[in-house]
Amino acid sequence: MADHDVDLFVIGAGSGGVRAARIAASHGARVMIAEEFRVGGTCVIRGCVPKKLLVYASRFSDEFEDAAGYGWRVPEPTFHWPTLIANKDREIARLEAAYIATLERFNVSLVKSRAVIEDAHSLKLATGARVHAKTILVATGAWPHLGEKIPGLEHVISSNEAFHLPELPRRIVIQGGGYIAVEFACIFAGLGSEVTLVYRGENILRGFDDDVREHLRN
Ligand SMILES: Cc1cc2nc3c(=O)[nH]c(=O)nc-3n(C[C@H](O)[C@H](O)[C@H](O)COP(=O)(O)OP(=O)(O)OC[C@H]3O[C@@H](n4cnc5c(N)ncnc54)[C@H](O)[C@@H]3O)c2cc1C
Repeated sequence: MADHDVDLFVIGAGSGGVRAARIAASHGARVMIAEEFRVGGTCVIRGCVPKKLLVYASRFSDEFEDAAGYGWRVPEPTFHWPTLIANKDREIARLEAAYIATLERFNVSLVKSRAVIEDAHSLKLATGARVHAKTILVATGAWPHLGEKIPGLEHVISSNEAFHLPELPRRIVIQGGGYIAVEFACIFAGLGSEVTLVYRGENILRGFDDDVREHLRN
């Protein structure tokens, strides 16, 4: 298709977009991918990966306690939230660079820009440039929704901002009973915050194994 700049244009360089771009390119397609924020998307930048680092950090409080019971003498442990966040950010930057290197290795052109679809085969970039693609793949992911505009909403954050709090909150209310809410509840509790989880249903983690739900609730 000579009248197209690329065979595949992917909007969004998250888990879905990067994988699709890489696989298509490995089969010989000319691929371009646009990312308006950071390569890696939700999972790498503000989801699975940073979350797991915080989970690991939060487990040490129990370990220190258990160790003492097994005869280890450890000095009174203290926790420094800014160190954890800085080290987490360093790891995320390393992973983002690895994702970019992978795209380069597969000859996928990366444009650091918002892309907007104009019609079935053309897109506009933030610079005003237009790209014509045989196929456009929308892999733009999702964004947290804070709900109705209630008084006090200005104090509410989503998981996105939780990864960048300047200090560990002394007390925190977490709204929701899905896995992200429960993981953050355990993270903050493990690190020493006083956590209240608010959930409208009968039990947290709807759809998960009942034994797991009961265990975690307790
Ligand atoms: C806190 C948290 C923890 C999670 N933990 C897990 C876990 O443990 N295991 C698991 O399997 N999943 C987990 N998830 C879910 C997982 O992160 C998502 O399912 C996954 O990232 C979705 O990938 P995606 O490619 O569809 O979208 P995304 O990763 O969101 O990527 C979409 C990308 O598109 C970009 N974009 C959007 N619009 C445009 C545009 N117009 N132009 C250019 N770029 C655009 C965005 O900036 C973004 O980078 C977690 C999510 C969160 C929030």
